[in-house]
Amino acid sequence: MTQDWIRIHPDDTVAVVTCAAAAGRDLGGGLTACDDIPLAHKVALTDLAPGDAVVRYGALLGTARSFVPRGSHVHEQNILAAQPPDLDRLEAEPFAAPAVSLPRPDEHAFNGYRNQQGYAGTRNLLGIVPTVQCVAGVLNQAVARIQADLLPRYPHVDGVVVLNHDYGCGVAIDAPEAVIPIRTLQSLLGHPNFAADPLVVGLGCEKLTLQRLAGSERARDVLLLQDFAGYDAMLTAILTEAERKLARLERRRREALPLSQLIIGMQCGGSDAFSGMTANPAAGIASDLLVAAGATVLFSEVSEVRDAVHLLAARAATPEVRSRLIGEMRWYDRYLAAGGVDRSANPTPGNKQGGLSNIVEKAMGSVAKSGRAPITEVLAPGQRPTRSGLIFAATPASDLVCGSEQLASGITLQVFTTGRGTPYNLAAAPVIKVSSQSSLQAFWQDLIDFDAGQVISQRLSLEQAGRALFRQILAVASGEKTRAEAHGLSNDFCIFNPAPVT
Ligand code: CA
Repeated sequence: MTQDWIRIHPDDTVAVVTCAAAAGRDLGGGLTACDDIPLAHKVALTDLAPGDAVVRYGALLGTARSFVPRGSHVHEQNILAAQPPDLDRLEAEPFAAPAVSLPRPDEHAFNGYRNQQGYAGTRNLLGIVPTVQCVAGVLNQAVARIQADLLPRYPHVDGVVVLNHDYGCGVAIDAPEAVIPIRTLQSLLGHPNFAADPLVVGLGCEKLTLQRLAGSERARDVLLLQDFAGYDAMLTAILTEAERKLARLERRRREALPLSQLIIGMQCGGSDAFSGMTANPAAGIASDLLVAAGATVLFSEVSEVRDAVHLLAARAATPEVRSRLIGEMRWYDRYLAAGGVDRSANPTPGNKQGGLSNIVEKAMGSVAKSGRAPITEVLAPGQRPTRSGLIFAATPASDLVCGSEQLASGITLQVFTTGRGTPYNLAAAPVIKVSSQSSLQAFWQDLIDFDAGQVISQRLSLEQAGRALFRQILAVASGEKTRAEAHGLSNDFCIFNPAPVT
């Protein structure tokens, strides 16, 4: 009979069941379920005494709290989570440059919108960036008018996007950590999908002044609503400025460009126990192919890499990169401690229902989407990269905040792996949704773009899945619409603001 469980690494003491198993069911391979075990949850491969290692991915997830017989359901309640790697000890270890050979890509170009400098765009968008939430209502009306009255006359422009946010006023603008939200908005102004030329609209009395946001040079090129005599005058001014920018965008055309002009992000959300076996490692192979072809790939989610940071530190290209990586982990440890929590605050109820017992297990699956390439740079939240290759962009793991901060760092496409499913999408860059199980793809056919569950359901190799995903990334970067894009879905722009609100 077939075996209804998957062990990832020869050292593992637990496996993941590939079907929901009632107590007494023969799981194949000489294993019988002692308990009811939900789909994607873990089963003990050996008798575990209290204190025995619970190992998955060859990594220590924790120790057994009580006696766990072979064939039992292993879950949050019977595992004591392992401690995270000690950062001081990690920093004291001698540095060794990583040596890795990446898979060979069979494509090296995509059709994008060239920019005067920096990365190319994957979409040709009129971007509108407010300096403060107070103007959002007027901007929403302006966007409706631009869509109805102006866009039909500019067929080569893909759309208009307003990135409303809640920063800009009522905040401690001089707090040390305010650098993060301010930098996020500054970086956004140079986004490749906006041709680095969005329309900036402020109110006039906000704390985030235009000089502070964009410098005195750019501040002349901005609309302040308090300068206009009422609503109609505001709308007329915005539409006039929008039309001027649309005329410039209309002249842009896609052209074949080397992958060194492509920058994308990787993220996971609503993960389950299959995410680390199918979707994330397939995304990792796609990432390696992109890096090998000269592209730039960002991965993030500090609280989901914290427990695997020793694996990433060993992939730092230089001692400086390793030190920056550890520095970002330290910053986040302090940030969580100040809020009275630790990294165990991360797994969601959905993650746990999906079989992920704790943050160690989630982290081991999460980092798989970074592939094997060396890490060439580490970015603080909202920073823009200065190097190509694989880059760790420190952001929270929150889908909305990670997506927004990666967008600010300049990504023009995101690959999003999911086990539980989410209709999440970014307003200004396409998001390729990758399912970890074929059952999710079948259930959400009109929302999932790529089914990495085929690694289990069709016995596709990870290499085949990774190469297919790589080709899909290039197709979407070249203009093919994602499912969420076709439905017109998008989430709000959620800035990471660790500074006080006043
Ligand atoms: Ca996430």
